[in-house]
Amino acid sequence: MKIVNDYETVIGLEIHAQMKTQSKMFCGCPTRFGEEPNTQTCPVCIGMPGVLPVINKLALEFTIKTGVALGCKISPFSRFARKNYFYPDLPKGYQVSQYELPICEGGFVMLNVDDDEGQRRINLTRIHMEEDAGKNIHEGAGSFSYVDLNRAGVPLMEIVSEPDIKTPKEAAAYVRKIRTILRYLDVCDGNMDEGSLRCDANVSLRPQGVKELGVKTEIKNINSFKFIEKALEYEIQRQTRVLNEGGRIIQETRLWNTTTGTTESMRSKEEAHDYRYFPEPDLVPLMVDEGWIAQIRKEIPELPDEKVRRYIEDYKLPAYDADLLAAERHTAAWFEQTVGLGANPKDVSNWMMGEMMRLLNEKGLAIEASPLRPEHLHGLIQLINNGTINLKTAKIVFEDMFNTGKSAEEVVKEKGLVQISDVGELEKTVAAVIAENPNETARYKAGETKLTGFFVGEVMKKTKGKANPKAVNEILKRLLL
Ligand code: ADP
Ligand code: MG
Ligand code: ZN
Repeated sequence: MKIVNDYETVIGLEIHAQMKTQSKMFCGCPTRFGEEPNTQTCPVCIGMPGVLPVINKLALEFTIKTGVALGCKISPFSRFARKNYFYPDLPKGYQVSQYELPICEGGFVMLNVDDDEGQRRINLTRIHMEEDAGKNIHEGAGSFSYVDLNRAGVPLMEIVSEPDIKTPKEAAAYVRKIRTILRYLDVCDGNMDEGSLRCDANVSLRPQGVKELGVKTEIKNINSFKFIEKALEYEIQRQTRVLNEGGRIIQETRLWNTTTGTTESMRSKEEAHDYRYFPEPDLVPLMVDEGWIAQIRKEIPELPDEKVRRYIEDYKLPAYDADLLAAERHTAAWFEQTVGLGANPKDVSNWMMGEMMRLLNEKGLAIEASPLRPEHLHGLIQLINNGTINLKTAKIVFEDMFNTGKSAEEVVKEKGLVQISDVGELEKTVAAVIAENPNETARYKAGETKLTGFFVGEVMKKTKGKANPKAVNEILKRLLL
């Protein structure tokens, strides 16, 4: 038996993204999450015979928009297909999807994974539209099973990647990137807890240097970035062990068990022919004209990659800052608004990545809902720059503005936080601190200059943090000579 330790990992992902439409893919039922079971259904989406589906135009528009943004070719002619299988959450006995003629083909995303590797291009195979299935709910230790069809017929985009991904970390980065772009385009809310974005991860191993792909397994329905990485890591280890023991990988569908942290076999993998795909006879084929595509293209906002490049070039931000600020559309807009008011980009970035994120997290708020607006931060930065307050005070003011929605000037005035820069006044305080601390003074004079911090701290205590630190340092040096 030949043991090969050097396997190359090959990963391809299928992402299911729920589109942000008000109504379902082929009927007028609402798509709201968390409603009473089976209250958002109609004869079309519960699969009554004799009904006729109608295509949701907005879902088509969203898919085209995504395709254009990801550099796909938009097919002038595409159509829906029936994918036949039996499951209790699928009353029709088939899912309407797209098969041989999807709406989008090709395309790619760029990833920054490891600094030394630079950017990696992950190619897309296709994006197609389909409807979601319902949901089975099992209760009472297996005694009862229910079917909730609220989700049946909800519009999904399936984004299929080529097997271009090399590591679990890269896989998670890829899903993050897709999620970011979908949220920029406002076509999917990206809420993984509610299942609005979930992914099937396909993975295989092959000995280093071999061209042919190995046999893959597919891990179904992963709904968090952490689990994407963990499930793939586990599966790679499992496959390595099987191969090293001389075994063969069986093509199958596996499930990630969050409790045990392992993948478990669910079923052997169906082949396309098991589904008996055929063109959906109840729906007309889709013919998308160039004019419509051009119009949709115009509506695409500046995307995160372009933003990052612009932040680095025009605003001279470090790549780290640029990535963080551009990761969410609303964060980027907030940043740009503040800079637009005349604030220094790096100052804005520091405040946003520090205090702003901290307080938003603490309060569980999205940045759009922040009571602290760009003009507040701009005002605060001005007060720091013109010497009215020091940085330490500024943090207090920031939090106060966040809680009250008041301007920086108001807070400073109300709380009497104006920085003390008056040399005469500061000298008195410094002299008092020196007089009260003879031991430290003696040690300082004997060469222990790192005690400066101690003296500055004492002065700050006496002035309630309002002393101008630069002035205090100068005075200290002079008086301690
Ligand atoms: P299936 O018919 O099993 O769904 P597809 O050919 O449609 O398989 O591919 C589904 C996904 O699996 C795609 O993202 C593709 O890149 C990926 N994939 C295909 N073959 C392999 C392989 N040998 N190893 C890893 N991923 C693969
Ligand atoms: Mg598949
Ligand atoms: Zn319906």
